[in-house]
Amino acid sequence: MAENLNLFTSTQNVIKEALTKLGYSEEMYELLKEPLRMMTVRIPVKMDDGSVKIFTGYRAQHNDAPGPTKGGVRFHPEVSEEEVKALSMWMTLKAGIVDLPYGGGKGGVVCDPRQLSMREIENVSRGYVRAISQIVGPTKDIPAPDVYTNSQIMAWMMDEYSRIREFDSPGFITGKPLALGGSHGREKATAQGVTICIHEAAKKRGIDIKGARVIVQGFGNAGSFLSKFMHDAGALVVGISDAYGGIYDPAGLDIDYLLDRRDSFGTITTLFDNTITNQELLEKECDILVPAAISNQITADNANSIQASIVVEAANGPTTLEATKILTERGILLVPDVLASSGGVTVSYFEWVQNNQGYYWTEEEVNKKLHENLIKAFDNIYEVSQTRGVNMRLAAYMVGVRRAAEASKFRGWV
Ligand code: GLU
Repeated sequence: MAENLNLFTSTQNVIKEALTKLGYSEEMYELLKEPLRMMTVRIPVKMDDGSVKIFTGYRAQHNDAPGPTKGGVRFHPEVSEEEVKALSMWMTLKAGIVDLPYGGGKGGVVCDPRQLSMREIENVSRGYVRAISQIVGPTKDIPAPDVYTNSQIMAWMMDEYSRIREFDSPGFITGKPLALGGSHGREKATAQGVTICIHEAAKKRGIDIKGARVIVQGFGNAGSFLSKFMHDAGALVVGISDAYGGIYDPAGLDIDYLLDRRDSFGTITTLFDNTITNQELLEKECDILVPAAISNQITADNANSIQASIVVEAANGPTTLEATKILTERGILLVPDVLASSGGVTVSYFEWVQNNQGYYWTEEEVNKKLHENLIKAFDNIYEVSQTRGVNMRLAAYMVGVRRAAEASKFRGWV
């Protein structure tokens, strides 16, 4: 039978398994198997050439029992309703894992920002906020950056929302520039979180980070900062890649040189002649493999060829459920996406708290709190995985879904 590559249905399957293991009823699964709300919008945008183009956007709110919903907005040509739904469910899990008072939300606009001018991107961003303004807000649903969106886009969105509401609303969105109430440490937060998970996983496997060989697939926000952190910690980053291909050197790559030359979308390999494919890169020799790009990269087809002893998922959904099984059986320690990539939303929460209290923290304070949260979350999930005899993904879902389930129960919904 063909493997299930559908992110939405495979997420539903694991949520069901997690709820069953935790002893929840079928009704709880019925509540949590889909977002509570899903809004589809059409956004008319004036293009630079004078024409008008209509873009499609989505906002999904999975469960708001624990508090407002929270999660990023991606601008990507492959954004779909199903993907946004699955991603909103993952945000519920992430918030539960790092113990934040949020449910999950997620949004997206079907567009390719690489083909748009800055002014067109601004018009898409403002149009999206106007279209969803009724269902979002600092105490309802708080957007943030995601794939191909950044602090400038958050600034335009915040400005648009503040104009509509007629008061300054920094807490409406996170991932803002510092000058607009952004938090120190937010830009590097996802990579920091992945780094913390790598250190913890390496300890469990008795691997010394100094000299460990690391492959990072993807050189966007998470992948690029992560490569730098690993390099600075004394690891040998032997492979990296972008959407166009990968480069691999067993002697270690010059990360500072690569960072210097990447463009704002993380493209770098187009400058090299001897590139390999992304699939080839995943199967190269290394100790730690970090898929930090797109979904469905490690599947039943290549899981047996992965040479790493630790796989840490910085991307959302890079490993299928079949592949998770294979890697676990092979004794490879897999740190799942909902744990490894939760650093971003954790510092987003800190940003929102700072906005709400109007008092701002230093980068040291932010990083200290991020470390504490993530190490606690890692230990908790590792412990559940050991004591309940389940893989790290199922353990993470069990920890992650609990808060939304408990909150829904206390509210009397189920
Ligand atoms: N888009 C990021 C994620 O998927 C961050 C979300 C947030 O900061 O709210 O976790």
